[in-house]
Amino acid sequence: MLTIEPDRSPKPDESLAEYVRRVRTGMNISQAELAKRSGIHLMSVGKIEGGKTTRLSAKSKVGLSRALQISDSYLDAVCRGVPVTTVQQLKICPNCWVPGTEAESIWLHLRSKYCFACGTALRDRCASCNEPMTSTKHRFCAYCGKSYK
Ligand SMILES: [Zn+2]
Ligand SMILES: [Zn+2]
Repeated sequence: MLTIEPDRSPKPDESLAEYVRRVRTGMNISQAELAKRSGIHLMSVGKIEGGKTTRLSAKSKVGLSRALQISDSYLDAVCRGVPVTTVQQLKICPNCWVPGTEAESIWLHLRSKYCFACGTALRDRCASCNEPMTSTKHRFCAYCGKSYK
């Protein structure tokens, strides 16, 4: 069965409150359920979504990122108001990318899912072991040794 994943990366200019609420409602869970899954007090979840909390404790960050299945670097970025493009994940087109060269900046764009040139699904992790790509300098996965292409 296909499940539709909510877009889990923060949008430009999205506040922490908007971001958390959007991902939570995308997952179809209540504030109470989020509180339970993240180990954060329901009142604190309410404060975060109400925009009254703009800084997260380390514990809240870990809990939220786990419960919402998002990278804690995304939470850091929205808390600091840093454009999300600075926390972009390395992505390449397995068809067009030449190992050892820089990834095209358009592939790296947070919302890019397919190659602009050939339409192939972009890849941000090793096809063999699923570990995130670490560098375009490397031809092979650092974890399992398989070629990234
Ligand atoms: Zn391509
Ligand atoms: Zn690998």
